[in-house]
Amino acid sequence: MHDIKVIIRTTEMQEYSERMRSVGKTIAFVPTMGFLHEGHLPLIKEGRKLGDNLVVSIFVNPSQFSPEEDFESYPRNFDNDLKLLQKEGVDVIFYPDKNDLYQDGFQTYVELENLPKHLCGISRPIFFQGVATVVTKLFNIVKPHIAIFGRKDYQQLVIIRRMARDLNFDIKIVGFPTVREPDGLAMSSRNTYLTPEQRINALSLYKSLKQSKKLVESGIKDAKRIIDAAYTLIKSHPETVIDYIAICDPETLADMETIDRPALMALAVNVGKTRLIDNMILKP
Ligand code: AMP
Repeated sequence: MHDIKVIIRTTEMQEYSERMRSVGKTIAFVPTMGFLHEGHLPLIKEGRKLGDNLVVSIFVNPSQFSPEEDFESYPRNFDNDLKLLQKEGVDVIFYPDKNDLYQDGFQTYVELENLPKHLCGISRPIFFQGVATVVTKLFNIVKPHIAIFGRKDYQQLVIIRRMARDLNFDIKIVGFPTVREPDGLAMSSRNTYLTPEQRINALSLYKSLKQSKKLVESGIKDAKRIIDAAYTLIKSHPETVIDYIAICDPETLADMETIDRPALMALAVNVGKTRLIDNMILKP
């Protein structure tokens, strides 16, 4: 079995990465919140290809959850994660303690001006500040050359790309395509919350994206018409409460009225108590 190292302390992680860098090794990094599933594994395999050393972090980041969200109940299973990562040939699991990462008196946050004002940032106002802050910290601790993020969390990916440019992180940010179940549902740790009936209704997110893609390919350019059709489709499924459906510029995330160039369609829907997101690029 592959020899995997579990590092808990931030200082030990920094020392490890310094050692690897000093002998010319390329460090690839995949940050996660654990409870790993088939959707995480292709990113990890990609990391395995891109780096001499592959570090995967497992950390459920408290600063990105608001008090009414599922921080405490977010699914966790370290033993299973360890087994999966061992099989994938990961070199290091960075598994920090929240009191080590956020020490007493912590008061420094990373905030972007505009990108968090769209999509998920509207209903989750502190979310992206928490994400940008923890990713900055992880970058400073893991010191990767390359970091891989999933396009399923599209807004997160553009925010991290922007942040890396704005703050001069010398790190290549790689975006990885969304990994789906055979029927199209985007894989997510939160899918485990869904009852079998909710699992069927959750498919409405992907169905609405596919429907939108077809409408755009048939020549419809009016974003509102496409969004309305998606609302109708999703609302016809029980237990769905739509947070937002948006068609926007893939880089600025500003709303687009006319799809006269590639556009991002993104949506967030609560199915029962589970918040699901998905997205697709629509090309006229
Ligand atoms: P999470 O543990 O949910 O924070 O995810 C860790 C990383 O895996 C993030 O970069 C996610 O975007 C990515 N990821 C999670 N699920 C998927 C998926 N179904 N397809 C592609 N990337 C994913």
